[in-house]
Amino acid sequence: MRWTERQRAMLREIGIPPFWPEEAEQVEAAAETAPAVSAPPTTHADVAPERFARPLAVEPVSTPQPLTARAKPPASTAPSSFVQAAAALPDLALGARPTGIERMDWPALREAVSTCRACKLCESRTQPVFGTGNEQADWMIIGEAPGEQEDKQGKPFVGRSGQLLDRMLAAIDLTRAEDAPSKQVFIANVLKCRPPANRNPLPQEVAQCEPFLLRQIELVQPKVIVAMGRFAVQSLLKSSEPIGRLRGRVHEVAAVPVVVTYHPAYLLRSPGDKALAWDDLCLAREVRAKA
Ligand code: URA
Repeated sequence: MRWTERQRAMLREIGIPPFWPEEAEQVEAAAETAPAVSAPPTTHADVAPERFARPLAVEPVSTPQPLTARAKPPASTAPSSFVQAAAALPDLALGARPTGIERMDWPALREAVSTCRACKLCESRTQPVFGTGNEQADWMIIGEAPGEQEDKQGKPFVGRSGQLLDRMLAAIDLTRAEDAPSKQVFIANVLKCRPPANRNPLPQEVAQCEPFLLRQIELVQPKVIVAMGRFAVQSLLKSSEPIGRLRGRVHEVAAVPVVVTYHPAYLLRSPGDKALAWDDLCLAREVRAKA
């Protein structure tokens, strides 16, 4: 694939100026026209080679599920064992967790989130942040929890990290603005309510909120999920491994391929890792292309 000037400008904006050197592009362009296609280069000249010693596997790490093109039938209202398992978590609630989440349609799920009082975060929130985007999106982006601005505005990723997220999405021709399911992502968080002072989510809060996110995944039926940041990654994958050990391969949640990457807020603090995040986005794009 050749990069247009616009794409180059976007990549410069997200802070990856020299990541795609001309030589690599020429090799890739040659590969595109060659009859026997070899894999495009996946390393960046400005990143230590050992970081890329491992090829970017597109194979799922767990039992492979068919990644064939799926028409999107309406999500079943029969409870999936996946959501049921989460719904059966011990009740650590402040109030009652809404029941029947695993059967809800979009309006019911929105209503359940907006009135949820299942943990103490309901006492300090301005409003829950349900998530936004195309309800049939091919791409689902999952972050951690609303921050101050998100809590005020009721939308995910509207602060500085949201601006970086927008630029990352634009770099792979995705958007949160209204568009077709192939382009407009759906963005949701693990927690729907802001933890006070942006503290880390507590395990009980994640457990209480999890059925909402799982139902969102089931309703959207994305072709790929990009999980951003430690909390999203570890809670989705039920893993305690750091992102650095989980990235670069394809995981699976509810039969949907999951690619993990760093949280935009982390990338703002550690811009040197933007090149790794770029690799993760490219991996997700490969997965999406194969779905
Ligand atoms: N960080 C997140 O993970 N989600 C948001 O919505 C905002 C910041």
